[in-house]
Amino acid sequence: MLGQMMTQPLLISTLITHAERYHSESEIFSVNTGGGVEETTWGQVAQNARRLASALGKLGLDAQARCGTIAWNNRRHLEIYFGAPGGGFVCHTINPRLFPEQLVYILNHAEDKVLFIDKTFVPLVAAVRDKLEHLEHIVLMEGSDSEAAEKLPGLIFYDDLIASGDPDYTWPEMDELTASSLCYTSGTTGNPKGVLYSHRSTVLHSFGVNMADSLGIAATDVVLPVVPMFHVNAWGSPYACAMSGARMVMPGPGLDGASLVGLLDKYKVTIALGVPTIWLGLLGEAKKIGSKLESLQRTVVGGSACPPSMITTFREEYGVDTIHAWGMTEMSPLGSVNQPLAKHRELPIEEQHRLRENQGRPVFGVELEILDDEGKPLPHDGVAQGDLVTRGHWILDSYFRSTTEETLSNGWFDTGDVATMDPDGYVTIKDRSKDIIKSGGEWISSVELENIAIAHPKLADAAVIGARHEKWDERPILVAVKAEGEDPSEAEILSIFDDKIAKWQIPDCVVFTDVLPRNATGKVLKRNLREAFGEVLIGQAS
Ligand code: ADP
Repeated sequence: MLGQMMTQPLLISTLITHAERYHSESEIFSVNTGGGVEETTWGQVAQNARRLASALGKLGLDAQARCGTIAWNNRRHLEIYFGAPGGGFVCHTINPRLFPEQLVYILNHAEDKVLFIDKTFVPLVAAVRDKLEHLEHIVLMEGSDSEAAEKLPGLIFYDDLIASGDPDYTWPEMDELTASSLCYTSGTTGNPKGVLYSHRSTVLHSFGVNMADSLGIAATDVVLPVVPMFHVNAWGSPYACAMSGARMVMPGPGLDGASLVGLLDKYKVTIALGVPTIWLGLLGEAKKIGSKLESLQRTVVGGSACPPSMITTFREEYGVDTIHAWGMTEMSPLGSVNQPLAKHRELPIEEQHRLRENQGRPVFGVELEILDDEGKPLPHDGVAQGDLVTRGHWILDSYFRSTTEETLSNGWFDTGDVATMDPDGYVTIKDRSKDIIKSGGEWISSVELENIAIAHPKLADAAVIGARHEKWDERPILVAVKAEGEDPSEAEILSIFDDKIAKWQIPDCVVFTDVLPRNATGKVLKRNLREAFGEVLIGQAS
Protein backbone atom coordinates (compact mmCIF):
# COMPACT_ATOMS: atom_id res chain seq x y z
CA MET A 1 0.00 0.00 0.00
CA LEU A 2 1.35 3.43 -0.92
CA GLY A 3 0.99 6.54 1.19
CA GLN A 4 -1.73 8.88 0.01
CA MET A 5 0.15 12.14 0.09
CA MET A 6 0.95 14.60 -2.69
CA THR A 7 4.21 14.24 -4.50
CA GLN A 8 5.73 17.43 -5.78
CA PRO A 9 9.11 17.51 -7.45
CA LEU A 10 11.84 19.17 -5.38
CA LEU A 11 12.79 21.97 -7.76
CA ILE A 12 15.01 25.04 -7.36
CA SER A 13 12.14 27.12 -8.77
CA THR A 14 10.08 26.19 -5.69
CA LEU A 15 12.70 27.87 -3.48
CA ILE A 16 12.56 31.17 -5.31
CA THR A 17 8.76 30.98 -5.60
CA HIS A 18 8.58 30.64 -1.82
CA ALA A 19 10.91 33.63 -1.34
CA GLU A 20 8.82 35.66 -3.78
CA ARG A 21 5.51 34.80 -2.14
CA TYR A 22 6.40 35.04 1.52
CA HIS A 23 9.60 37.10 1.77
CA SER A 24 9.26 39.39 -1.18
CA GLU A 25 10.37 42.45 0.82
CA SER A 26 13.42 40.85 2.43
CA GLU A 27 16.40 42.88 1.30
CA ILE A 28 19.41 41.84 -0.73
CA PHE A 29 22.32 44.28 -0.44
CA SER A 30 24.77 43.84 -3.28
CA VAL A 31 28.16 45.43 -3.85
CA ASN A 32 28.50 46.33 -7.53
CA THR A 33 31.60 45.31 -9.44
CA GLY A 34 32.29 48.95 -10.21
CA GLY A 35 31.72 50.02 -6.57
CA GLY A 36 28.64 51.24 -4.72
CA VAL A 37 25.93 49.15 -3.09
CA GLU A 38 22.63 48.26 -4.71
CA GLU A 39 19.59 47.42 -2.62
CA THR A 40 17.04 44.99 -3.95
CA THR A 41 14.65 42.37 -2.57
CA TRP A 42 13.86 38.67 -2.94
CA GLY A 43 10.74 39.77 -4.83
CA GLN A 44 12.84 41.63 -7.41
CA VAL A 45 15.40 38.84 -7.67
CA ALA A 46 12.59 36.35 -8.29
CA GLN A 47 11.05 38.49 -10.99
CA ASN A 48 14.39 38.97 -12.76
CA ALA A 49 15.13 35.24 -12.46
CA ARG A 50 11.87 34.46 -14.29
CA ARG A 51 12.61 37.02 -16.98
CA LEU A 52 16.10 35.54 -17.35
CA ALA A 53 14.78 31.99 -17.74
CA SER A 54 12.42 33.17 -20.47
CA ALA A 55 15.16 35.20 -22.20
CA LEU A 56 17.51 32.21 -22.21
CA GLY A 57 14.78 30.20 -23.91
CA LYS A 58 14.44 32.93 -26.54
CA LEU A 59 18.18 32.68 -27.26
CA GLY A 60 17.32 29.23 -28.58
CA LEU A 61 19.12 27.19 -25.94
CA ASP A 62 18.24 23.53 -25.62
CA ALA A 63 17.08 22.08 -22.31
CA GLN A 64 20.04 21.41 -20.05
CA ALA A 65 22.31 23.82 -21.93
CA ARG A 66 25.18 24.81 -19.67
CA CYS A 67 25.26 28.48 -18.69
CA GLY A 68 28.67 29.35 -17.29
CA THR A 69 29.29 32.18 -14.82
CA ILE A 70 32.56 33.90 -13.98
CA ALA A 71 31.38 36.38 -11.42
CA TRP A 72 31.58 37.77 -7.90
CA ASN A 73 28.90 37.40 -5.27
CA ASN A 74 26.29 39.90 -6.40
CA ARG A 75 22.56 40.11 -7.08
CA ARG A 76 22.78 39.39 -10.81
CA HIS A 77 24.69 36.21 -10.02
CA LEU A 78 21.94 35.37 -7.53
CA GLU A 79 19.33 35.78 -10.26
CA ILE A 80 21.29 33.43 -12.55
CA TYR A 81 21.46 30.87 -9.69
CA PHE A 82 17.66 30.61 -9.85
CA GLY A 83 16.88 31.66 -13.43
CA ALA A 84 19.15 29.22 -15.24
CA PRO A 85 18.21 25.99 -13.41
CA GLY A 86 14.62 27.15 -12.88
CA GLY A 87 14.25 27.40 -16.67
CA GLY A 88 15.68 23.93 -17.18
CA PHE A 89 19.27 24.97 -17.94
CA VAL A 90 22.38 24.22 -15.90
CA CYS A 91 24.15 26.93 -13.91
CA HIS A 92 27.86 26.24 -14.22
CA THR A 93 29.91 28.39 -11.83
CA ILE A 94 33.57 28.82 -12.78
CA ASN A 95 36.45 29.87 -10.58
CA PRO A 96 38.20 32.88 -12.14
CA ARG A 97 41.41 32.15 -10.26
CA LEU A 98 42.09 29.03 -12.32
CA PHE A 99 44.93 29.01 -14.82
CA PRO A 100 43.65 30.00 -18.30
CA GLU A 101 44.35 26.46 -19.64
CA GLN A 102 42.16 24.98 -16.89
CA LEU A 103 39.46 27.53 -17.60
CA VAL A 104 39.43 26.55 -21.28
CA TYR A 105 39.43 22.86 -20.37
CA ILE A 106 36.44 23.30 -18.05
CA LEU A 107 34.37 25.41 -20.45
CA ASN A 108 34.96 22.95 -23.29
CA HIS A 109 34.41 19.87 -21.13
CA ALA A 110 31.13 21.29 -19.85
CA GLU A 111 30.20 22.50 -23.36
CA ASP A 112 29.04 25.87 -22.05
CA LYS A 113 26.78 27.63 -24.55
CA VAL A 114 26.40 30.90 -22.66
CA LEU A 115 28.88 32.62 -20.40
CA PHE A 116 27.85 35.30 -17.91
CA ILE A 117 30.76 37.45 -16.77
CA ASP A 118 31.44 40.35 -14.47
CA LYS A 119 33.35 43.27 -15.94
CA THR A 120 36.50 42.29 -14.01
CA PHE A 121 36.81 39.19 -16.19
CA VAL A 122 36.48 40.76 -19.65
CA PRO A 123 40.27 40.58 -20.33
CA LEU A 124 40.43 36.98 -19.04
CA VAL A 125 37.61 35.86 -21.35
CA ALA A 126 38.81 37.94 -24.32
CA ALA A 127 42.18 36.16 -24.11
CA VAL A 128 40.67 32.66 -24.37
CA ARG A 129 37.51 33.39 -26.41
CA ASP A 130 38.86 31.71 -29.57
CA LYS A 131 39.51 28.45 -27.75
CA LEU A 132 35.98 28.04 -26.39
CA GLU A 133 34.55 25.46 -28.76
CA HIS A 134 30.87 25.46 -27.81
CA LEU A 135 30.31 29.02 -26.66
CA GLU A 136 27.56 30.93 -28.49
CA HIS A 137 26.85 33.95 -26.26
CA ILE A 138 28.74 36.06 -23.75
CA VAL A 139 26.64 38.15 -21.38
CA LEU A 140 28.21 41.03 -19.45
CA MET A 141 26.57 41.36 -16.05
CA GLU A 142 26.02 45.13 -16.40
CA GLY A 143 23.74 47.69 -18.03
CA SER A 144 25.82 48.50 -21.09
CA ASP A 145 29.51 49.06 -21.65
CA SER A 146 31.02 50.08 -24.98
CA GLU A 147 34.59 49.46 -23.85
CA ALA A 148 33.80 45.81 -23.02
CA ALA A 149 31.80 45.41 -26.24
CA GLU A 150 34.88 46.39 -28.22
CA LYS A 151 36.93 43.65 -26.59
CA LEU A 152 34.22 41.02 -26.98
CA PRO A 153 32.32 41.44 -30.26
CA GLY A 154 28.69 40.30 -30.05
CA LEU A 155 28.56 40.93 -26.31
CA ILE A 156 25.07 40.86 -24.77
CA PHE A 157 24.28 43.08 -21.78
CA TYR A 158 22.56 41.40 -18.86
CA ASP A 159 20.08 44.19 -18.21
CA ASP A 160 18.97 44.15 -21.87
CA LEU A 161 18.59 40.40 -21.72
CA ILE A 162 16.39 40.67 -18.61
CA ALA A 163 14.33 43.40 -20.25
CA SER A 164 13.67 41.09 -23.21
CA GLY A 165 12.36 38.35 -20.89
CA ASP A 166 8.70 37.69 -20.21
CA PRO A 167 7.59 39.04 -16.80
CA ASP A 168 4.67 36.57 -16.75
CA TYR A 169 6.84 33.54 -17.40
CA THR A 170 5.88 30.56 -15.27
CA TRP A 171 8.43 28.05 -14.10
CA PRO A 172 8.29 24.75 -15.96
CA GLU A 173 7.61 21.45 -14.18
CA MET A 174 10.36 18.89 -14.58
CA ASP A 175 11.77 15.77 -13.02
CA GLU A 176 13.46 16.60 -9.73
CA LEU A 177 16.44 14.48 -10.76
CA THR A 178 17.18 16.89 -13.62
CA ALA A 179 20.66 18.45 -13.51
CA SER A 180 20.61 21.96 -12.01
CA SER A 181 24.17 23.12 -11.48
CA LEU A 182 27.71 22.16 -12.25
CA CYS A 183 30.86 22.88 -10.32
CA TYR A 184 34.38 21.61 -11.01
CA THR A 185 36.74 20.58 -8.23
CA SER A 186 39.87 22.68 -8.04
CA GLY A 187 42.01 19.86 -9.41
CA THR A 188 45.31 20.23 -7.58
CA THR A 189 46.35 17.08 -9.44
CA GLY A 190 45.18 16.21 -12.95
CA ASN A 191 42.29 17.85 -14.73
CA PRO A 192 39.39 19.30 -12.74
CA LYS A 193 36.35 17.03 -12.41
CA GLY A 194 32.75 18.15 -12.73
CA VAL A 195 30.19 17.62 -10.00
CA LEU A 196 26.67 17.82 -11.46
CA TYR A 197 24.06 18.65 -8.83
CA SER A 198 20.37 17.92 -9.30
CA HIS A 199 17.31 19.96 -8.30
CA ARG A 200 16.47 17.32 -5.73
CA SER A 201 19.96 17.22 -4.18
CA THR A 202 20.04 21.02 -4.01
CA VAL A 203 16.66 21.36 -2.30
CA LEU A 204 17.43 18.58 0.18
CA HIS A 205 20.82 20.18 0.87
CA SER A 206 19.04 23.46 1.64
CA PHE A 207 16.90 21.69 4.26
CA GLY A 208 20.15 20.25 5.63
CA VAL A 209 21.77 23.69 5.85
CA ASN A 210 18.77 25.23 7.56
CA MET A 211 18.27 22.70 10.34
CA ALA A 212 18.73 24.18 13.80
CA ASP A 213 21.70 21.94 14.60
CA SER A 214 23.25 22.76 11.26
CA LEU A 215 23.69 26.39 10.15
CA GLY A 216 20.12 27.19 11.22
CA ILE A 217 19.56 30.12 8.84
CA ALA A 218 16.30 31.89 9.72
CA ALA A 219 14.12 34.68 8.33
CA THR A 220 15.53 36.98 11.02
CA ASP A 221 19.10 36.50 9.79
CA VAL A 222 21.23 38.74 7.63
CA VAL A 223 23.61 36.39 5.82
CA LEU A 224 26.98 37.38 4.35
CA PRO A 225 28.39 34.67 2.10
CA VAL A 226 32.06 35.58 1.83
CA VAL A 227 32.64 32.14 0.36
CA PRO A 228 32.46 32.81 -3.38
CA MET A 229 29.49 31.76 -5.48
CA PHE A 230 31.99 29.97 -7.75
CA HIS A 231 32.98 27.76 -4.83
CA VAL A 232 30.42 24.95 -4.30
CA ASN A 233 27.47 27.30 -4.78
CA ALA A 234 28.67 29.53 -1.91
CA TRP A 235 28.16 26.44 0.26
CA GLY A 236 24.53 26.36 -0.87
CA SER A 237 23.75 29.57 1.05
CA PRO A 238 21.74 31.35 -1.69
CA TYR A 239 19.36 28.38 -1.94
CA ALA A 240 19.14 28.00 1.84
CA CYS A 241 18.46 31.74 2.22
CA ALA A 242 15.67 31.63 -0.36
CA MET A 243 14.14 28.75 1.56
CA SER A 244 14.21 30.67 4.86
CA GLY A 245 13.69 34.18 3.49
CA ALA A 246 16.84 35.51 5.16
CA ARG A 247 18.25 38.83 4.01
CA MET A 248 21.58 38.63 2.18
CA VAL A 249 24.63 40.83 1.80
CA MET A 250 26.54 40.06 -1.39
CA PRO A 251 30.09 41.38 -1.00
CA GLY A 252 31.06 41.73 -4.67
CA PRO A 253 34.78 41.83 -5.49
CA GLY A 254 36.09 43.31 -2.22
CA LEU A 255 36.93 40.42 0.10
CA ASP A 256 39.58 42.25 2.12
CA GLY A 257 39.18 42.72 5.89
CA ALA A 258 38.28 46.41 5.68
CA SER A 259 35.49 45.94 3.10
CA LEU A 260 34.02 43.01 5.02
CA VAL A 261 34.03 44.71 8.42
CA GLY A 262 32.38 47.72 6.75
CA LEU A 263 29.59 45.56 5.29
CA LEU A 264 29.13 43.59 8.49
CA ASP A 265 28.64 46.69 10.59
CA LYS A 266 26.57 48.67 8.08
CA TYR A 267 24.07 45.93 7.18
CA LYS A 268 23.99 44.30 10.62
CA VAL A 269 25.06 40.90 9.42
CA THR A 270 24.14 38.09 11.86
CA ILE A 271 25.82 35.15 10.15
CA ALA A 272 28.84 35.10 7.83
CA LEU A 273 30.36 32.18 5.94
CA GLY A 274 33.95 31.80 4.78
CA VAL A 275 37.30 30.02 4.86
CA PRO A 276 39.76 30.60 7.74
CA THR A 277 42.14 32.86 5.76
CA ILE A 278 39.32 35.33 5.13
CA TRP A 279 38.59 35.56 8.84
CA LEU A 280 42.25 36.20 9.63
CA GLY A 281 42.02 39.37 7.52
CA LEU A 282 38.68 40.34 9.00
CA LEU A 283 39.75 39.87 12.62
CA GLY A 284 42.93 41.88 11.96
CA GLU A 285 40.90 44.75 10.54
CA ALA A 286 38.23 44.66 13.26
CA LYS A 287 40.98 44.98 15.87
CA LYS A 288 42.69 47.79 13.98
CA ILE A 289 39.61 49.97 13.65
CA GLY A 290 38.10 48.95 16.98
CA SER A 291 34.94 47.36 15.55
CA LYS A 292 33.16 45.07 17.99
CA LEU A 293 31.31 43.27 15.17
CA GLU A 294 28.22 44.14 17.18
CA SER A 295 25.56 42.43 15.04
CA LEU A 296 27.48 39.24 14.25
CA GLN A 297 26.17 36.16 16.08
CA ARG A 298 27.70 33.25 14.17
CA THR A 299 30.49 32.59 11.71
CA VAL A 300 30.54 29.45 9.65
CA VAL A 301 34.09 28.35 9.01
CA GLY A 302 35.08 25.52 6.69
CA GLY A 303 37.06 24.68 3.58
CA SER A 304 40.19 24.12 5.70
CA ALA A 305 40.57 23.35 9.38
CA CYS A 306 39.53 26.28 11.57
CA PRO A 307 42.36 26.96 14.05
CA PRO A 308 41.09 26.74 17.65
CA SER A 309 42.77 30.09 18.38
CA MET A 310 40.39 31.71 15.88
CA ILE A 311 37.34 30.18 17.57
CA THR A 312 38.61 31.56 20.91
CA THR A 313 39.18 35.06 19.49
CA PHE A 314 35.70 35.16 17.97
CA ARG A 315 34.13 33.97 21.22
CA GLU A 316 36.11 35.95 23.76
CA GLU A 317 36.66 39.21 21.95
CA TYR A 318 33.47 39.48 19.91
CA GLY A 319 30.93 37.14 21.52
CA VAL A 320 30.60 35.30 18.19
CA ASP A 321 29.82 31.58 18.03
CA THR A 322 31.98 29.81 15.44
CA ILE A 323 30.28 26.95 13.65
CA HIS A 324 33.04 24.71 12.34
CA ALA A 325 31.84 22.74 9.33
CA TRP A 326 33.43 20.27 6.97
CA GLY A 327 32.53 19.21 3.45
CA MET A 328 33.61 19.24 -0.14
CA THR A 329 32.46 20.04 -3.67
CA GLU A 330 31.40 16.41 -4.12
CA MET A 331 29.11 16.80 -1.08
CA SER A 332 27.25 20.00 -2.14
CA PRO A 333 29.30 20.69 0.23
CA LEU A 334 27.75 20.10 3.66
CA GLY A 335 29.05 16.99 5.46
CA SER A 336 29.42 17.68 9.15
CA VAL A 337 28.72 20.60 11.46
CA ASN A 338 29.96 21.20 14.99
CA GLN A 339 27.03 21.94 17.28
CA PRO A 340 26.79 20.89 20.94
CA LEU A 341 24.67 18.10 22.47
CA ALA A 342 22.42 18.50 25.52
CA LYS A 343 24.74 16.41 27.69
CA HIS A 344 27.62 18.81 27.00
CA ARG A 345 25.91 21.53 29.02
CA GLU A 346 26.88 19.74 32.23
CA LEU A 347 30.58 19.77 31.39
CA PRO A 348 33.07 22.36 32.65
CA ILE A 349 33.08 25.35 30.32
CA GLU A 350 36.64 24.74 29.06
CA GLU A 351 35.64 21.22 28.08
CA GLN A 352 32.55 22.55 26.26
CA HIS A 353 34.77 24.94 24.34
CA ARG A 354 37.23 22.19 23.46
CA LEU A 355 34.41 20.05 22.07
CA ARG A 356 33.49 22.83 19.63
CA GLU A 357 36.88 22.71 17.91
CA ASN A 358 36.52 19.60 15.72
CA GLN A 359 34.64 19.34 12.43
CA GLY A 360 31.40 18.16 14.05
CA ARG A 361 28.79 15.49 13.36
CA PRO A 362 27.10 14.40 10.16
CA VAL A 363 23.88 16.30 9.48
CA PHE A 364 20.80 14.25 8.64
CA GLY A 365 21.07 13.27 5.00
CA VAL A 366 24.78 12.42 5.16
CA GLU A 367 26.35 9.21 6.45
CA LEU A 368 30.02 9.06 7.36
CA GLU A 369 32.24 6.07 8.08
CA ILE A 370 35.96 5.57 8.68
CA LEU A 371 37.71 2.60 7.09
CA ASP A 372 41.07 0.90 7.49
CA ASP A 373 43.41 0.04 4.59
CA GLU A 374 41.37 -3.08 3.80
CA GLY A 375 38.12 -1.15 3.66
CA LYS A 376 36.87 -2.44 7.06
CA PRO A 377 35.04 -0.03 9.40
CA LEU A 378 37.15 1.26 12.29
CA PRO A 379 35.83 1.82 15.83
CA HIS A 380 34.20 5.17 16.61
CA ASP A 381 36.37 5.76 19.65
CA GLY A 382 37.89 9.14 18.81
CA VAL A 383 41.28 7.48 18.43
CA ALA A 384 41.29 5.11 15.45
CA GLN A 385 41.95 7.06 12.28
CA GLY A 386 41.17 5.98 8.77
CA ASP A 387 39.83 6.95 5.37
CA LEU A 388 36.66 8.99 5.67
CA VAL A 389 33.92 7.78 3.29
CA THR A 390 30.42 9.12 2.77
CA ARG A 391 27.04 8.55 1.14
CA GLY A 392 23.80 10.48 1.24
CA HIS A 393 21.13 12.56 -0.47
CA TRP A 394 23.47 15.27 -1.72
CA ILE A 395 26.67 13.28 -2.28
CA LEU A 396 27.83 12.71 -5.84
CA ASP A 397 27.24 9.37 -7.50
CA SER A 398 29.63 9.92 -10.41
CA TYR A 399 31.64 12.78 -11.86
CA PHE A 400 30.30 14.52 -14.97
CA ARG A 401 31.07 12.29 -17.97
CA SER A 402 32.21 9.46 -15.69
CA THR A 403 30.50 6.40 -14.18
CA THR A 404 29.47 5.24 -10.72
CA GLU A 405 31.90 2.33 -10.98
CA GLU A 406 34.76 4.75 -11.55
CA THR A 407 33.68 7.01 -8.71
CA LEU A 408 32.33 4.95 -5.79
CA SER A 409 33.49 1.92 -3.89
CA ASN A 410 30.71 -0.33 -2.51
CA GLY A 411 28.30 2.60 -2.74
CA TRP A 412 30.52 4.95 -0.72
CA PHE A 413 32.49 7.96 -1.90
CA ASP A 414 36.05 8.23 -0.56
CA THR A 415 36.57 11.83 0.56
CA GLY A 416 40.38 11.59 0.47
CA ASP A 417 40.46 12.80 4.08
CA VAL A 418 41.82 10.90 7.08
CA ALA A 419 39.73 11.26 10.23
CA THR A 420 38.76 9.94 13.64
CA MET A 421 35.16 9.68 14.83
CA ASP A 422 34.02 9.60 18.45
CA PRO A 423 31.03 7.61 19.81
CA ASP A 424 28.70 10.61 19.28
CA GLY A 425 29.77 10.88 15.64
CA TYR A 426 32.03 13.94 16.04
CA VAL A 427 34.67 13.83 13.34
CA THR A 428 38.19 15.22 13.58
CA ILE A 429 39.86 15.68 10.20
CA LYS A 430 43.50 14.74 10.63
CA ASP A 431 44.65 15.48 7.12
CA ARG A 432 44.17 14.95 3.44
CA SER A 433 45.41 11.38 3.00
CA LYS A 434 48.14 12.66 0.67
CA ASP A 435 49.34 15.25 3.21
CA ILE A 436 49.50 13.13 6.35
CA ILE A 437 53.08 12.70 7.56
CA LYS A 438 54.33 9.16 7.96
CA SER A 439 57.24 9.22 10.37
CA GLY A 440 58.85 5.86 11.16
CA GLY A 441 55.53 4.01 10.74
CA GLU A 442 53.61 6.52 12.89
CA TRP A 443 51.17 9.06 11.46
CA ILE A 444 51.43 12.74 12.33
CA SER A 445 48.58 15.09 11.53
CA SER A 446 49.82 18.25 9.81
CA VAL A 447 46.51 19.96 10.68
CA GLU A 448 47.09 19.43 14.39
CA LEU A 449 50.56 20.98 14.21
CA GLU A 450 49.30 23.90 12.09
CA ASN A 451 46.54 24.64 14.59
CA ILE A 452 49.17 25.04 17.30
CA ALA A 453 51.64 27.02 15.19
CA ILE A 454 49.11 29.54 13.87
CA ALA A 455 48.30 30.58 17.46
CA HIS A 456 51.87 31.95 17.80
CA PRO A 457 51.52 35.74 17.94
CA LYS A 458 54.69 36.25 15.91
CA LEU A 459 53.41 34.23 12.94
CA ALA A 460 50.99 35.39 10.25
CA ASP A 461 50.57 32.03 8.54
CA ALA A 462 51.86 28.48 8.88
CA ALA A 463 51.77 25.11 7.14
CA VAL A 464 53.29 21.77 8.04
CA ILE A 465 54.56 19.29 5.46
CA GLY A 466 56.38 15.98 5.54
CA ALA A 467 60.01 16.41 4.48
CA ARG A 468 62.00 13.39 3.33
CA HIS A 469 64.19 11.91 6.04
CA GLU A 470 66.92 9.27 5.75
CA LYS A 471 66.02 7.48 8.97
CA TRP A 472 62.30 8.13 9.53
CA ASP A 473 61.14 8.33 5.87
CA GLU A 474 59.36 11.58 6.62
CA ARG A 475 59.52 14.19 9.37
CA PRO A 476 57.28 17.23 9.87
CA ILE A 477 58.72 20.64 9.11
CA LEU A 478 57.00 23.95 9.66
CA VAL A 479 56.84 26.48 6.84
CA ALA A 480 56.03 29.80 8.47
CA VAL A 481 55.30 33.38 7.49
CA LYS A 482 56.38 35.98 10.07
CA ALA A 483 53.81 38.47 11.33
CA GLU A 484 54.39 42.05 10.21
CA GLY A 485 57.20 43.69 12.18
CA GLU A 486 58.20 40.46 13.95
CA ASP A 487 61.42 38.48 13.63
CA PRO A 488 61.10 35.33 15.75
CA SER A 489 63.87 32.74 15.97
CA GLU A 490 63.34 29.10 15.04
CA ALA A 491 63.67 28.03 18.68
CA GLU A 492 61.11 30.60 19.78
CA ILE A 493 58.59 29.26 17.27
CA LEU A 494 59.22 25.60 18.08
CA SER A 495 58.81 26.22 21.82
CA ILE A 496 55.07 26.70 21.22
CA PHE A 497 54.76 22.93 20.71
CA ASP A 498 56.24 22.07 24.15
CA ASP A 499 53.74 20.22 26.37
CA LYS A 500 51.06 20.37 23.64
CA ILE A 501 52.05 17.28 21.69
CA ALA A 502 54.38 14.29 22.06
CA LYS A 503 58.04 15.23 21.53
CA TRP A 504 58.41 12.99 18.46
CA GLN A 505 55.65 14.90 16.70
CA ILE A 506 57.33 18.31 17.02
CA PRO A 507 58.55 19.61 13.63
CA ASP A 508 62.27 19.10 12.98
CA CYS A 509 62.77 22.64 11.75
CA VAL A 510 61.14 25.89 10.71
CA VAL A 511 61.57 27.33 7.24
CA PHE A 512 60.51 30.96 6.93
CA THR A 513 58.93 32.14 3.71
CA ASP A 514 57.20 35.31 2.52
CA VAL A 515 53.86 33.85 1.55
CA LEU A 516 52.22 30.41 1.40
CA PRO A 517 51.18 29.26 -2.08
CA ARG A 518 47.41 28.72 -2.26
CA ASN A 519 45.16 27.17 -4.89
CA ALA A 520 42.16 28.79 -6.52
CA THR A 521 39.95 28.02 -3.53
CA GLY A 522 42.38 29.32 -0.93
CA LYS A 523 43.86 26.01 0.22
CA VAL A 524 47.60 25.81 0.83
CA LEU A 525 49.34 24.02 -2.04
CA LYS A 526 51.31 21.52 -0.02
CA ARG A 527 52.62 19.86 -3.15
CA ASN A 528 54.45 23.09 -4.04
CA LEU A 529 55.79 23.37 -0.52
CA ARG A 530 57.03 19.78 -0.68
CA GLU A 531 58.73 20.55 -3.99
CA ALA A 532 60.41 23.62 -2.51
CA PHE A 533 61.30 22.37 0.95
CA GLY A 534 60.81 18.59 0.90
CA GLU A 535 64.54 17.86 0.87
CA VAL A 536 65.74 20.26 3.57
CA LEU A 537 66.41 17.46 6.06
CA ILE A 538 68.45 15.30 3.68
CA GLY A 539 72.11 15.19 4.57
CA GLN A 540 71.50 16.48 8.10
CA ALA A 541 72.58 14.35 11.07
CA SER A 542 69.52 12.91 12.82
P1 ADP B 1 35.40 23.14 0.15
O1 ADP B 1 36.71 23.87 0.18
O2 ADP B 1 34.28 23.98 -0.23
O3 ADP B 1 35.13 22.43 1.43
P2 ADP B 1 36.68 21.42 -1.78
O4 ADP B 1 36.04 20.34 -2.53
O5 ADP B 1 37.44 22.48 -2.51
O6 ADP B 1 35.49 22.04 -0.99
O7 ADP B 1 37.66 20.83 -0.69
C1 ADP B 1 37.27 19.82 0.19
C2 ADP B 1 38.37 19.49 1.13
O8 ADP B 1 38.70 20.59 1.96
C3 ADP B 1 37.99 18.41 2.13
O9 ADP B 1 38.10 17.12 1.59
C4 ADP B 1 38.97 18.66 3.26
O10 ADP B 1 40.24 18.09 3.01
C5 ADP B 1 39.10 20.15 3.25
N1 ADP B 1 38.22 20.73 4.27
C6 ADP B 1 37.01 21.30 4.10
N2 ADP B 1 36.52 21.72 5.28
C7 ADP B 1 37.43 21.41 6.23
C8 ADP B 1 37.50 21.57 7.65
N3 ADP B 1 36.54 22.18 8.34
N4 ADP B 1 38.59 21.09 8.27
C9 ADP B 1 39.58 20.48 7.61
N5 ADP B 1 39.57 20.32 6.27
C10 ADP B 1 38.52 20.76 5.59
